[in-house]
Amino acid sequence: MRALVLDAAGGIDHLRVQELPEPAIQSPGQVLLRVHTVGLNRLDLFVTEGLAGVNYSFPHIMGSDAAGTVVEIGSRESPIRLGDRVMVNPTLSCGNCPLCLQGEDSLCRHLEVLGEHRSGTAAQYLVVPAENLARIPESMPWPQAGAFSLATLTAWRMLTNRVRVQAGETVLIWGIGGGVALAALQIARLLGARTIVTSGENTKLEVAKSLGADVALNHHGVDVAAEIKRLTGGQGVDVIVDSVGAQSWPGSLRSLRRGGRLVVCGATTGPSVSLDLRRLFWHQWNILGSTLGNRREYEEIVKLAGEGKLWPVVDQVVPLEQAVSAYQRLHRGEQVGKLVIEVSQ
Ligand SMILES: [Zn+2]
Repeated sequence: MRALVLDAAGGIDHLRVQELPEPAIQSPGQVLLRVHTVGLNRLDLFVTEGLAGVNYSFPHIMGSDAAGTVVEIGSRESPIRLGDRVMVNPTLSCGNCPLCLQGEDSLCRHLEVLGEHRSGTAAQYLVVPAENLARIPESMPWPQAGAFSLATLTAWRMLTNRVRVQAGETVLIWGIGGGVALAALQIARLLGARTIVTSGENTKLEVAKSLGADVALNHHGVDVAAEIKRLTGGQGVDVIVDSVGAQSWPGSLRSLRRGGRLVVCGATTGPSVSLDLRRLFWHQWNILGSTLGNRREYEEIVKLAGEGKLWPVVDQVVPLEQAVSAYQRLHRGEQVGKLVIEVSQ
């Protein structure tokens, strides 16, 4: 089969498409898919650089998200049927630790992600646990399905489980344009919040406005925090969604109201920031981290997708043989929404 692989750590120059043996089902709980589409994630770029503490065996198949057709099933007891159109939740947990048993599988001590800790999805065939699959809503096309899971799940857990956005609150989302930020915008609106988004590019702000963002700020030449204060009567926002990291951190703290919640799910511009503890306790801020989501949360977003309320924005769809160009676009940060590889039709 054809697969997009990383042949060594060191960046996207080490990506290539090559022939690999087809995978086979090893246990009754597994399912074999013929993959149609694979959504890219920023995580993939970190994978190409080589992640600390993760040992890859090269060639490493890329990709965490996927949508495909079921072509073989390990066990007849599975609710999944041959021919089902399914999408893949890339979260792999042990199922046995205390946190898994409480239903908090994204806090599993042995948490792994397809494409990050294990071989990924960007190949013509893929073997995954049946429990990681969800049927694709009938009206949802392959590109949206293949780009759905990781970003939507991450954004959903952040805004519901972690910062618990309430109707009428104001939510600031930095760096609109990425898949998680756009999903966060859609979810904040579903929850009834007022939304403020930022970007350095007007085309991304236009897309955000078309999705219903109340205020879209170009952060070039603008003191975002001062603008936020002006827009919120001097109070600051109730909730901030920040996956930008070092660059946005000072502005985040200046934009957050007393008692406000700041949730972080990424650090694109760098992982190290400073925090004056006196400001933390005086303002009684809640600063939270979030990663992926649990199975119940995945079921919730699949249901919303079925109702047509939470489809990812797709930037471009490229054939497998041109997958590297999609990674270059992601690396340059030019995309608005999800880049998708079409593996087969
Ligand atoms: Zn566990």
